[in-house]
Amino acid sequence: MNPTQTSLPILGFAAWSGTGKTTLLEAMLPKLVELGIRVAVIKHAHHNFDIDKEGKDSYRLRKAGAGQMLISSRYRRAMITETPEEEATLPQLIAELDLNALDLILVEGFKQLSFPKIELHREEIGKPWLFPEDSNIIAVAANVAAQTELPQLDINDLDKLTQFVADFAKQQSAPSLACSDLDPSGMLSVSEGRDRILRQIVAPTAQTSVDLKSALGQIVANDILSPVNVPQHTNSAMDGYAVRSDDLGRDSYHVVAQVMAGHSYDKPLNSGEAVRIMTGAPVPQNADTVIMREQASQDGDSVTFDLKMGAIKPGQNVRQAGEDLAIGQAAVKAGTQITAPELGMIASLGLDSVAIRPPVKVAIFSTGDEVQHPGEAQKQNCIYDSNRYTLHAMLSKIGCEVVDLGIIEDSEQALETTLRTAAEQADLILSSGGVSVGDADYIKTVLDKLGQINFWRINMRPGRPLAFGHIDTTPFFGLPGNPVAVIVTFMQFVEPAIRKLQGMTDWQAPFYNAVAEEKLRSRPGRTEYSRGVFGIDANGRLTVRSAGKQGSGILRSMSEANCLIEILPEQPGVEVGEKVRVIPLENRI
Ligand code: AMP
Ligand code: MG
Repeated sequence: MNPTQTSLPILGFAAWSGTGKTTLLEAMLPKLVELGIRVAVIKHAHHNFDIDKEGKDSYRLRKAGAGQMLISSRYRRAMITETPEEEATLPQLIAELDLNALDLILVEGFKQLSFPKIELHREEIGKPWLFPEDSNIIAVAANVAAQTELPQLDINDLDKLTQFVADFAKQQSAPSLACSDLDPSGMLSVSEGRDRILRQIVAPTAQTSVDLKSALGQIVANDILSPVNVPQHTNSAMDGYAVRSDDLGRDSYHVVAQVMAGHSYDKPLNSGEAVRIMTGAPVPQNADTVIMREQASQDGDSVTFDLKMGAIKPGQNVRQAGEDLAIGQAAVKAGTQITAPELGMIASLGLDSVAIRPPVKVAIFSTGDEVQHPGEAQKQNCIYDSNRYTLHAMLSKIGCEVVDLGIIEDSEQALETTLRTAAEQADLILSSGGVSVGDADYIKTVLDKLGQINFWRINMRPGRPLAFGHIDTTPFFGLPGNPVAVIVTFMQFVEPAIRKLQGMTDWQAPFYNAVAEEKLRSRPGRTEYSRGVFGIDANGRLTVRSAGKQGSGILRSMSEANCLIEILPEQPGVEVGEKVRVIPLENRI
């Protein structure tokens, strides 16, 4: 096991000093223990703390040079490690814990690191909220209301707070996750999330034959082998004269025939003879070289060639039979999407129908009692459902058949019925909303009952919460509710899965590296997506700038953008003039 990585839930508390972090933890710990949760606390302290006392044996031995001092008795043990060069990182500290004896790690401090935290806030301290600056905050516990969509708890209601922490521990412990898939904060990276999903997607084998024109955009089911040579005959690539290469160097040749495309000269060509030939016409037997018309002067049935315009190379200007495609060679490979050239190529083989993968059927629905159908009068505190429309559009764009199941009311029964129907009808199920921490619990209950679903926190922005699993055997994605997060998670996770379901092998989204025209901020360790506009500048360089306001609910900036800017976890941010990855939106959304 890589010691810097753990699948244990990690939760921090973010607060200004004086808020009472330690007091709260001290009160909460017995309650967590009572709930059977085995907890470790990692606390960051100021630079020269010491728990060992001067004069004690352990202290003396340590001072004498023991870099690690392990002291043990019947009831407890302690390890004191000297780190004069460099402070230990959080992953190193986590690695020192006995992870098998734990259910939850609580962290005090390390506030600059990226892992889930609850913000503790007391009005009387008079300090600003932290959640607007720290997107790792998953909930707020305070004695006043905050302007946020995050779950809000009463900082004085210890039982509710404890329950929240306990639920978090339960929900985040996903024993099926391999340790190496998680970063030190206990989250999955974008690529790990995608890999896990793809490993669980099995491409169906069904196929159906359709006429050629209707196959546009669809996926070829089997290798299409060429029944013919393309070109069928060795033919001329130019309008000109066909001669024998063993007969070059004569002053003049006797023109024995003229061959138009679609016709042929059926006698073998003799020495001293030439055939006037058009582009595409088969070259006669024995002839293997064509001299272009511009180089020739024909007088009656005699032709001479002007060598000043270019030497004649044996074999020139001739296309060999089967040069493009030989009989039996795969013209189009299984798993290829049919675009204009493939359509033309299949037609060039003489085929007018093709076996394709049937379109992937995707059932979609929205969740949330606040979500309303467009066209209705807007109710108080409600929002119109936009996610089903974006999903519908993106799915149609990539050739899927959409089964729209509407908006599902917030009840266990409605959700269960919908999921059962969806699993029967569709090859894939997509829902939006309701998978983040703090959402109605019944969603998880129903998903647990009907299938095997993992609730993941992906180290990305936007789009952190993501549920993935199966209802019966049908793959299911629970996407976040935020409209931009829906588009981003669709592009990063759902489309690759659909491409695999479609039978495409190793599909990868195109991306480019562009020069940043402005500074782009990011948090190391996290993949950040912002909406961008890329293009070619006056110097011919591919450049990118961001497209307007970036709140994860703002669809308008998505509409103004032509790319997603992807800042990778290892990039601390992007300075003006530095390269950054851009993912074009054209043909994707
Ligand atoms: P949730 O993931 O359910 O917590 O939702 C996050 C945000 O997305 C909330 O502001 C929701 O109101 C919003 N949202 C959820 N579902 C939809 C939807 N179908 N269309 C537009 N916005 C939505
Ligand atoms: Mg919701």
